Amino acid sequence: MNRSLSLKRLKESQDKIWDIAVIGGGASGFGVALDALSRGLSVVLLDKSDFAKGTSSRSTKLLHGGVRYLAQGDVGLVLEALKERGRLLANAPHLTYNQPFIIPIYTWFDKLQYSVGLKIYDWMAGKWRLGKSKFINKKETINRLPQIKQSGLKGGVVYHDGQFDDARMIIAIAQTCDELGGCVLNYAKVSELTKDENGKVNGLMFVDQIGDNHIKIKAKMVVNATGVFADKILQMDQPGVRKSIQPSQGIHLVFDQSFLGGNDALMIPKTSDGRVLFAVPWHGKLVVGTTDTLVDKAKLEPEALEKEINFVLETAQAYLTKKPLRSDVLSVFAGLRPLAAPKEKGAKTKEISRSHKVIVSDSKLVTITGGKWTTFRKMGEDTVDYFSEVTGESMKASKSANQKLHGYTKNPEEGHMSVYGSDASQIKSMIKDHPKWAEKLHSNHPFTVAELIWMLRNEMAVKLEDIMSRRFRIMLLDAKAAKEMGPKAAKIMAEEMGQDDAWIADELEEFEKTVNKYIITQ
Ligand SMILES: Cc1cc2nc3c(=O)[nH]c(=O)nc-3n(C[C@H](O)[C@H](O)[C@H](O)COP(=O)(O)OP(=O)(O)OC[C@H]3O[C@@H](n4cnc5c(N)ncnc54)[C@H](O)[C@@H]3O)c2cc1C
Repeated sequence: MNRSLSLKRLKESQDKIWDIAVIGGGASGFGVALDALSRGLSVVLLDKSDFAKGTSSRSTKLLHGGVRYLAQGDVGLVLEALKERGRLLANAPHLTYNQPFIIPIYTWFDKLQYSVGLKIYDWMAGKWRLGKSKFINKKETINRLPQIKQSGLKGGVVYHDGQFDDARMIIAIAQTCDELGGCVLNYAKVSELTKDENGKVNGLMFVDQIGDNHIKIKAKMVVNATGVFADKILQMDQPGVRKSIQPSQGIHLVFDQSFLGGNDALMIPKTSDGRVLFAVPWHGKLVVGTTDTLVDKAKLEPEALEKEINFVLETAQAYLTKKPLRSDVLSVFAGLRPLAAPKEKGAKTKEISRSHKVIVSDSKLVTITGGKWTTFRKMGEDTVDYFSEVTGESMKASKSANQKLHGYTKNPEEGHMSVYGSDASQIKSMIKDHPKWAEKLHSNHPFTVAELIWMLRNEMAVKLEDIMSRRFRIMLLDAKAAKEMGPKAAKIMAEEMGQDDAWIADELEEFEKTVNKYIITQ
């Protein structure tokens, strides 16, 4: 997967009519691209920033049916998500895990409620079940969650869900799309939709954010998969159209894993504001979240609010004996949910179902909104199903449900190299050929020069932040360490990319502005 090659391909084929042009390189857009390619359609996918820069790299990292949605009676959504959870675990074993969760039980009513609820959850998963849920006594709960609050504890209910690396999953899907013949390009901002004489959308214009090229794409169907930015594209289609998205922010705090201990995840089904709170082990750290705060504007780099930080800290402190403090936060990151804006002023967004929706405008622009990471593939399939209606052409049945993703292996490496799947052996041979590339980028973290060069050559990383945030994930795991790695990494990037000292200075300035937002000041 190479950016220069994708760009060259698009520059040289401005007369080609693609079957589908997808705007947005998050989970929704890549779900569409993957499904369309599995049916033999030609696909181009563009993102204005790096792939997964938006919400898709800022999730809780769960592949789940959603115990919460079950409690709300949204059986259809849970069934669909459980099936998709199973499929993704089967298609990308190098990026997914079967993660046991424990709900601590403090009242006998809760024991009954969660034991029965999770049995139903198990039963609904059918052949995709990841493990049987069960009640464990107080002693075992403390053994498995060493830092859990013990006063009043009666035991715990264990259940299983999936866990994954969201941004690295996007990279693997992008590579799969590239291998299936799709053309994927990051840093390509769609600036305009084009229409034919009948007012039907027949393509788009985009601006290459790195080289400032303006390029035209012709397509039979254009899909708007821009998450919280969907209204901007809808405005290009129909200026003045009613706002359809209400962004809702969710934040996560990252701590050392020792604040929970063990290998299990903690699930608090009802916090003081009625939400679910997770504390999940991830790449050796503990990710704790999340919140649900309505915000006015869709931003690519949303920032956690003080009240959100305090809420997550206080809730974690209420359930843990080793109480995490502000100074223990290794990183804070925020993401935006694209909730449907209520039609009437003052109506609540929480009441609106979180299932996805495909909308076809009068000019045949197809928009996919809502949904969740876990169901990205099904969201893609449901969107591509509109291809015949929009174009009048027939197409083959979808095969994406069984599409193995790039790097697929049942035996990934141990440790941090596991995310590369079958690519890990190639990174190791790079080190064999260039022993100097075994050098680590930070003394406290295992990441090597070889991996950085691999990301530039094969994973379409362009900027320092692409490397730190969405490839190594260190910006979300330990933001201070990411900042410390910056100068060395930028120098290696410049050598590999043929850039000069001015580029290094600019890149570092831009990166530091962003990484500082992930570091909590005292
Ligand atoms: C806090 C939080 C936690 C979550 N946790 C989970 C979880 O654990 N499990 C789960 O299943 N789901 C979870 N979700 C939901 C899930 O993350 C989202 O449903 C999903 O990531 C949305 O993906 P998307 O592709 O629609 O949007 P995004 O990932 O935001 O992608 C939209 C893309 O469009 C691009 N774009 C915008 N405008 C343009 C333009 N003009 N030209 C080109 N590109 C453009 C942006 O750069 C962006 O990359 C969570 C959501 C939040 C907010």
